[in-house]
Amino acid sequence: MIAAIDLRDPNLINAAYLVAAVLFILGLRQLSSPTTARSGNYLAAVGMAIALLVTLLDRQILDFKLIILGVVIGTLVGAISARRVKMTAMPQMVALFNGVGGGAVALVAMSEFREATAHAVSLPLDVAITIPLSALIGAMSFSGSMIAFGKLQEIIGGSPITFPLQKVFNFLLFAASLVAIGFIATLAGQTNPSFEEWLLFALVGTALLLGVLMVIPIGGADMPVVISLLNSFTGVAAALAGFVLSNNALIIGGALVGASGTLLTILMGRAMNRSIANVIFGAFGGAGTAGPAADLGDKTVREINAQDAAIMLSYADSVIFVPGYGLAVAQAQHNVRELADMLEKRNINVRYAIHPVAGRMPGHMNVLLAEADVPYPQLYDMDDINPDFPRTDVVVVIGANDVVNPSARDDPGSPIYGMPILEVDKAKQVIVLKRSMSPGFAGIDNPLFYMENNAMLFGDGKDSVMKIAKEVDQL
Ligand code: NDP
Repeated sequence: MIAAIDLRDPNLINAAYLVAAVLFILGLRQLSSPTTARSGNYLAAVGMAIALLVTLLDRQILDFKLIILGVVIGTLVGAISARRVKMTAMPQMVALFNGVGGGAVALVAMSEFREATAHAVSLPLDVAITIPLSALIGAMSFSGSMIAFGKLQEIIGGSPITFPLQKVFNFLLFAASLVAIGFIATLAGQTNPSFEEWLLFALVGTALLLGVLMVIPIGGADMPVVISLLNSFTGVAAALAGFVLSNNALIIGGALVGASGTLLTILMGRAMNRSIANVIFGAFGGAGTAGPAADLGDKTVREINAQDAAIMLSYADSVIFVPGYGLAVAQAQHNVRELADMLEKRNINVRYAIHPVAGRMPGHMNVLLAEADVPYPQLYDMDDINPDFPRTDVVVVIGANDVVNPSARDDPGSPIYGMPILEVDKAKQVIVLKRSMSPGFAGIDNPLFYMENNAMLFGDGKDSVMKIAKEVDQL
């Protein structure tokens, strides 16, 4: 006779957690290519559903009512906001989700501590350290992410907020937090429980303040990097909480988030030629930051209309589109695809050049172009396409600015000097589609706009592309 399956069997639970962890890893792996990203997301979501379900079978859960209420509210808020959010507001959304995760970890740590002190359970030293440490990191991640959200959503100003001795003050707060962790860990179960609990509350309060103070001196423009960094904090905090709760899925999931957040932060910093220390302490790129203008002498800008652009494109053999943040703002991706199709019908070789930090989040341009069904083989990374610009007839820059700014390569005095760029200025002809001569994210002028082989087509990116397509059609 086959024995009935005990859904609460620890071996079964751990086996299910292992399946969930494998799905997380496979999902992450598939996320690295736009062609498999969607199924990667589903895989990871299935893994998360398994982990949640198995956790809910845990024998320590006495009452499911509140849990189910939480799941229903969370699912509704998550699903509605994910459907409604615009692509350009995605970084804010990630900030919110990340902050909520960090806050949840801090709450779990506090409740576990309360549980232990209420029952006068003496905690082993590793758990007694892990609980306040996860509360510290989780709470910092929560408040830091909320400030990042506020800056990106322009609820609070994007400019760096600094005050004298700020770094010293932050350091003292951090040092005090570590001392508090030491006290909590050594005193756990030995003194008055309410004193220990108050110490933990004070630690969480300090951590919330630290998160705010860490993010306010950073310019709004650097928030995507900050969010990625805070994301790694949340991952580490969740992994620590996994140790406290003896939950393997949480340990593995948290470690994966921590590691991928750290890697992403490093890669973003590298693509902007900025160290993480420079992002955190540099007070760079606040809203409206205006850097020094390049020395452009009395050079002028050549302005063209859609018909001129259409003629240039129609007589080209090779065309490269360079999308930037403005493409996302204008939502011009579908129209660009239509224009590209028309050019291809004329036997023109069409490609897209993707800078790693074009737009406002990693992969921003890949996602937009995938949405418009641009064939993935037509998308080229910066290093692969840069050697091809000198033999390209026409480059069309749509709402990109900093990522094609030659001063990053040529002007050691430029704030973005050293950032790798798409070398579009080396093409035979460049057409820049943007609304005005306003600078981009870094707040600095762009010498490309004044070059002889460049022409400006002013207007909303989508309108301009549509007008060009109409003209190409009539040629
Ligand atoms: P930029 O921010 O440099 O420039 C965008 C340009 O788009 C602006 O000059 C703007 O000019 C134009 N624009 C805005 N709206 C429209 C519209 N409706 N139609 C046409 N043009 C429009 O963008 P890039 O993509 O070139 O560079 C990204 C920047 O963001 C880099 O500096 C990068 O370091 C930074 N960054 C990127 C991150 C990432 O992960 N991707 C993370 C953190 C920072 P105008 O107003 O005249 O139209």
